[in-house]
Amino acid sequence: MLETPVVVKVHEGLHARPATQFAKLAKRFTCSLKIGRGDAWADAKSAVKLMLLGIKQNEQIVLRAEGDDEREALGRLAEFLADASISAPATGDAGDCGPAVAVEQPGTTPNAASTHAPSADGSGLSFKGVPASEGLAFGQAYAYFREEIVADRQSVAPHEVAGELHRFGTALEDTLRAMLAPRGDAAEHDEIFEAIAEVARSDDFAGAIRALVSSQWSAEAATLKCGLDLAVAFATLPDEYLRSRADDIRGLTRAVAASLLGKPLPSLSELPGPSIVLAEELCAPDLARADLRNILGIVCTSGSATSHVAILARAHGIPAILGVAADRDVLRSAARVAIDGGTGELWLDHSPEFEQAISKRLDAQREAQASLVAYREVEPRTQDGQTIQVAANLGSLAEIEAAQLAGAMGVGLFRTELLFMDQRRVPSEDEQYEVYSTLAGAFAPWPVIIRTLDAGADKPLPGVRFPEEENPFLGWRGIRMCLDCPEIFEPQLRALLRAAVHGNLCVMLPMVDDIEEVRRTKAIMARLSRELTEKGIAHGQPKLGIMIETPAAVLTADLLARESDFFSIGTNDLTQYIMAVDRMNPRLASLYRTDHLAVLQAIRIVCEAARRAKISVGVCGEAASRPEMIPTLVSLGVDELSMSPSAILRAKKVITEIEGTQRDAA
Ligand code: PEP
Ligand code: MG
Repeated sequence: MLETPVVVKVHEGLHARPATQFAKLAKRFTCSLKIGRGDAWADAKSAVKLMLLGIKQNEQIVLRAEGDDEREALGRLAEFLADASISAPATGDAGDCGPAVAVEQPGTTPNAASTHAPSADGSGLSFKGVPASEGLAFGQAYAYFREEIVADRQSVAPHEVAGELHRFGTALEDTLRAMLAPRGDAAEHDEIFEAIAEVARSDDFAGAIRALVSSQWSAEAATLKCGLDLAVAFATLPDEYLRSRADDIRGLTRAVAASLLGKPLPSLSELPGPSIVLAEELCAPDLARADLRNILGIVCTSGSATSHVAILARAHGIPAILGVAADRDVLRSAARVAIDGGTGELWLDHSPEFEQAISKRLDAQREAQASLVAYREVEPRTQDGQTIQVAANLGSLAEIEAAQLAGAMGVGLFRTELLFMDQRRVPSEDEQYEVYSTLAGAFAPWPVIIRTLDAGADKPLPGVRFPEEENPFLGWRGIRMCLDCPEIFEPQLRALLRAAVHGNLCVMLPMVDDIEEVRRTKAIMARLSRELTEKGIAHGQPKLGIMIETPAAVLTADLLARESDFFSIGTNDLTQYIMAVDRMNPRLASLYRTDHLAVLQAIRIVCEAARRAKISVGVCGEAASRPEMIPTLVSLGVDELSMSPSAILRAKKVITEIEGTQRDAA
């Protein structure tokens, strides 16, 4: 027997991916291999046992080998552990929305913003929720509810055990095959799913389930028991990152159990055809994996107009209503649905005549939109000669065409977190560089404002486990998180610096609270720029602006203006922080008012500070696209309005109809 102490240098320790790689490597040797940390020892050939040991970077462990090839095995494994270049977890692991994690939600919350009544045509039910993305839609319903999975029998007779073991094996492999099936280019690098598959086939998951089935448990009862026990073991680990693997294991468990019960979990990537999705809630990755052409409309019982799903729906021109107080069973049993995303009205199982009436309204809506095409090339001016730049809010390259067709005068907000959410890993610097360069080139010479990663709160990020926080909206998000995570922030800034040579690219920081956040970012950008110069890599010096989203930023706007090349007011967040109203809470929808005097005063303060500092000021929150808000924003001194492409033509028309900006009187 041989033993050797090793200091673990693997980046961030033995997380899912390196543990899987390590176990794979260990299995190549015939000798028995153990890894010891303090008093605890684990089989080095079991990825799950290694993960549960929770070994961190810079910890000393002991490797023990016994058998023919013990010397070679110890040498090779010690070398692996000493390699600091192995696996930064942020570039590898799946997020909370990984494999169809389906968690039973509490019942629908009563919702002051919603009402329901028999349908106007007497044929079905109607409800009212929060209008989240304009437009009419009707069609077949697709219920996307996360069901509770319960085993319908706990035990089996002795003669059924063999069949039960076979059933489990088939369900496990079917689930893994579906999980690992290629899904576009993201799946190519989907090492995380391989790590989950490794867990799934391990003694700790499959082995434990088989043992229970052998003692006459039914396959589904054994799967739920062992899988959820293993998830609990992960959930109680001290390491925050490893804890997040509990969600993956829960998802895997539920998927296998659902397959055994013949109740496959719903998935938006498998819509039967064009449908209106009815759900409790949707997260951005749910939508990222869906074929959006098949989503005619979205109805959720949670959320509000500024939640991310609403923003995504608007970006893709999908009508949506959120915060609908409908019973999930009522929604689940609906066959046909019609919605008006502009008014928040939802009709279930309406009559054919009613559907015809909606269809006529839809035609009229399309005609009205077509008549706006005349504004495409217009650079809109108020009647007293104030030119306002109307730019696009984008979240992906797929939206460039829609923005160009609408005559977008550049991009006022590119939400990079959507790029991060699209994949199950943090995109590499080069991948980001490609996207930012394409954007900058597509709109040159107009400015393209790219916002650095704004994750956290309503925007969870696959690959990063956010801490449990009492108040996530007041928590670790936006620039706060980026400054704490140089391994995420610096590649993004480098990609932006490099892409800046391809057009008029500007960088914008989200959730700025304090001048130091801007200064620290500038210092990082200056250092990265120096390093790029030393390496002879072409790059530019993009303008650096900030979002004004917090009361602190409003009240120190004069100071912030000294360090910023431009301001962009994020009215979605600014409204929630000024009004102390959670933007996601449909119950408070009537209090969440961007047109409230308090918010308007804040916008005025910011515009005045920008004018004094001679920097431009835009609005990129949803208020920028609201026809009734546009004249007010323009009169307060806003130079640029940025919105989803579908709203651009109408905004241009509204601006040309403004008689006088009365900027000084405002
Ligand atoms: C805002 O807060 O207004 C904004 C544009 O940012 P987001 O909606 O992405 O938080
Ligand atoms: Mg915001």
